[in-house]
Amino acid sequence: MPEQNFDLVVLGGGSGGYAAALRASQLGMTVGLIEKSKLGGTCLHVGCIPTKALLHSAEVADVTRESAKYGVTSTFGGIEIGAVTKYREDIVASKYKGLQGLIKARGITVIEGAGRLVSPTSVQVGDDLITGKNVILATGSYSRSLPGLEIGGRVITSEHALELNFVPKKVAVLGGGVIGVEFSSVWKSWGADVHIIEALPHLVPNEDEAISKQFERAFRKRGIEFTLGVRFQSVTQNDQGVVVTLENGATIEADILLVAVGRGPVTANLGYEEVGVTMDRGYVLTNERLATNIPGVFAVGDIVPGLQLAHRGFQQGIFVAEEIAGLNPIVVDDLNIPKVTYSDPEVASVGLTEAKAAAEHGAENITTYDYSLAGNGKSHIIGTTGSIKVVRVNDGPIVGVHMIGARVGELIGEAQLVVNWEAYPEDLAPLIHAHPTQNEALGEAFLAIAGKPLHAI
Ligand SMILES: Cc1cc2nc3c(=O)[nH]c(=O)nc-3n(C[C@H](O)[C@H](O)[C@H](O)COP(=O)(O)OP(=O)(O)OC[C@H]3O[C@@H](n4cnc5c(N)ncnc54)[C@H](O)[C@@H]3O)c2cc1C
Repeated sequence: MPEQNFDLVVLGGGSGGYAAALRASQLGMTVGLIEKSKLGGTCLHVGCIPTKALLHSAEVADVTRESAKYGVTSTFGGIEIGAVTKYREDIVASKYKGLQGLIKARGITVIEGAGRLVSPTSVQVGDDLITGKNVILATGSYSRSLPGLEIGGRVITSEHALELNFVPKKVAVLGGGVIGVEFSSVWKSWGADVHIIEALPHLVPNEDEAISKQFERAFRKRGIEFTLGVRFQSVTQNDQGVVVTLENGATIEADILLVAVGRGPVTANLGYEEVGVTMDRGYVLTNERLATNIPGVFAVGDIVPGLQLAHRGFQQGIFVAEEIAGLNPIVVDDLNIPKVTYSDPEVASVGLTEAKAAAEHGAENITTYDYSLAGNGKSHIIGTTGSIKVVRVNDGPIVGVHMIGARVGELIGEAQLVVNWEAYPEDLAPLIHAHPTQNEALGEAFLAIAGKPLHAI
């Protein structure tokens, strides 16, 4: 069997895998990066980037409808889906080209084809054996469904939703987590009626409860319907549409049903079990340094239990490359990874929710402060409401920041520095935020929780 030898073999060229390859090549390693489809993986081709293009189109639609409020005369004539598709595809194609160029410039060898782990140091691709001193597993995730819920026809996943060549009139969305609310937000802005079904008691259920409740109010105000705390039972479909039945007997009729109930790890039949890698329900188990139980074999990205986010994949890829190089990189806990829900409104958070901070430190030992964006000039100018909630340990650091409102995702960078650096509000309060920015609202929240609010009581 023909053999290619590298210092590092990476199986999967998505966010986690390609980040590992880039960092390892910087550190002087020879790298073989195996990819069966397209470099960039889910995030670039069917995840983060194309969905944000749709959300921007949705925002433009809303701004056009509301333009008279800002003294601009315009008429919203509708959505031309062909033009939206071109805009989305052009962005992805340009980023894809850039990534391919970067991988090439760094001297990384890309091996096209489906790989299978055949020993702790080798992956088979077709008839070739690709060997490395170390191997990183980075095969990503797929859209999951529920037992008995078959995907097909009018029952679609996010991959199909991206490719729709029409704007549905009525959509049912199963799942009120990030992916479900993103598409709901887009379709509503494009003029569809949307109904979300969520088995848990709240939309965006992983967020601080106060933020989830505000989010629900905002979606309700936009006319997005939702049923919470009720489970899906069944769906039927015909040429006209779908009928979704819930466990409480209620039915929802729609043109299509988007199934957005989470993502499962792509690990089946890839040789992981045969080589002896410890797995749990399809996920690859690692220690906190992302090493599997097999010496020299690491795992990164969505196949590792925890938050399934592209920037977690990037960080884990960099981490493992540095770990292999002996640089002893620092571990960042999943808790302190920033999360953004991209929709109208946006939600952004990092660190402990109020409930988790109370459980960890004792309710009497924490303080929270809610700064309303009503007090923030720039938020008023762009026409958004919302809030920033800061959680601190008394006489201690800020341990959580939770935000809701248009564009708050852009503020999470500062929040994650504050939480990860365990900053005290008293140290942050003297530092200056530019006026008028939405970022200033974070500064106001820090001032307030340090006991000296400026534009707040
Ligand atoms: C609709 C949607 C929106 C999202 N939006 C965001 C967002 O805004 N922000 C965010 O942070 N995250 C977002 N995500 C999540 C993000 O896309 C993932 O967390 C990220 O892509 C995970 O990276 P990964 O490297 O683990 O896996 P992937 O990106 O899935 O990459 C895995 C790669 O491995 C390849 N592969 C699999 N098996 C083999 C094999 N046997 N041989 C060779 N190659 C193989 C695949 O082809 C793929 O390219 C979104 C996801 C979806 C679905």
